[in-house]
Amino acid sequence: MPEKFDCIVVGAGPAGTACAYELAKAGVNVLLLERGEYPGAKNVMGGVLYRKMMEDIIPEFYKEAPLERPIVEQRFMMMDKESAVTFSYKGLEWGREPYNNFTVLRAKFDQWFAEKAVEQGALLVCETVAVECIVKNGRVVGVRTDRPDGDIYADVVVLADGVNSLLAKQLGFHREWRPDEVALATMEILKLDKNVIEDRFNLEANQGCTIEIFGDATKGILGTGFLYTNKDTLSIGVGTLLSGLIKHKIKPYELLEYVKNHPMIRPYIQGSEPVEYLAHLIPEGGYHSIPKVAGNGVLVVGDAAQLVNAIHREGSNMAMTSGRLAAETIIMAKEQNDFSESMLDQYRMKLMESFIGQDLKKYKDATHHFERFPQYFEQYIPMMNRAASQMFTVDGSSKWEKQQKIWRDLGSTKQKFKLARDMMKAWKVMK
Ligand code: FAD
Repeated sequence: MPEKFDCIVVGAGPAGTACAYELAKAGVNVLLLERGEYPGAKNVMGGVLYRKMMEDIIPEFYKEAPLERPIVEQRFMMMDKESAVTFSYKGLEWGREPYNNFTVLRAKFDQWFAEKAVEQGALLVCETVAVECIVKNGRVVGVRTDRPDGDIYADVVVLADGVNSLLAKQLGFHREWRPDEVALATMEILKLDKNVIEDRFNLEANQGCTIEIFGDATKGILGTGFLYTNKDTLSIGVGTLLSGLIKHKIKPYELLEYVKNHPMIRPYIQGSEPVEYLAHLIPEGGYHSIPKVAGNGVLVVGDAAQLVNAIHREGSNMAMTSGRLAAETIIMAKEQNDFSESMLDQYRMKLMESFIGQDLKKYKDATHHFERFPQYFEQYIPMMNRAASQMFTVDGSSKWEKQQKIWRDLGSTKQKFKLARDMMKAWKVMK
């Protein structure tokens, strides 16, 4: 392997591969390092891939990429112990080209995407861990790896090494994440006959459905459960802030078992066979937790930079877009042969101007608000279910009486004021 590259990208997830693809396409000599046996071997995702951000990199990728199903329906379940209020949008336009989003299995998708970067000219080296950045005179000049031939040098290093980003931490770009800045998600992939999936989820062939589950899926802890349809498997999982798991002394796999056995969920997965069990952290600190993302000779992208919109379960799209913006900045820096922090900081500016910075800013206080005030998940979702049950049960009492019962169920005048205040506060942190 040559000892010097224009750029070394650490991590072949969506962020690193997007960056390496764009650089290689522009003729930049780029090395993509991956610690896994192959790209995707270590990667976990519920599985929604966003078409627009992927098409910004490879137009019409859906004609050849290993995708599962185009998503035509998104359901949101507000779940209680034995009931659920469900909202849904189903749009057949999403089932036709150019589509909207797709379900994917990362082990297949990441390999395909990395092969595309290699076709453009990137050098992919797997089973190699970057153990630290090599810093000379205050500038990152390469990475030290666990290979016998050890050190590799470059004009610029891109850290796309995921949520823990030990390399960015070593550089002092961020501290250890607090338990309220990361969620722990566990998930399983369940094998189920294709026709059974389509019957159960009311789908035609080549249509997919996602279900996001709030409330009892996490026993009231801030977080969500999910159930997504693949071709002949289902992805089911649950993710909650680490701080919530610690506070409630719940083990993540217990929560997953609880969701799988929940009477509202069990019928969807009955008869399926687990084929894979996965667990991973998700950076959910949001806007306030974004670390330093540019330094002398170094950029940080994707999960390593806390770029996840937890409210809309968007992470892969932010990873890809940040990788692409980092590549654009590096191409500019190469033209001027200037890899200083002030030049590379243009990446941070591009990031903040893009939908990533804007969306993370929009929800900057949301996660912490819902974490501090657990009543939204613990009390208001059950209340919503009781109200729906009351209203839709035909028992001879008039609708006026029913409305009065629902009103009484909201509690005393003081409790009603509190509820109204909480709704206002929720509106403020989400608007
Ligand atoms: P990663 O995908 O984590 O990739 C980092 C890569 O770096 C890995 O391949 C790793 O092996 C490699 N690496 C790490 N350290 C080193 C090192 N030192 N040397 C060499 N290689 C290294 N997002 C969505 O958009 N939609 C979803 O439906 C969705 N669902 C999710 C469900 C779950 C359960 C989880 C955990 C996440 C989900 N996300 C989802 C988030 C999404 O998976 C991430 O935001 C996205 O994968 C981030 O991409 P990345 O490239 O930054 O990091």
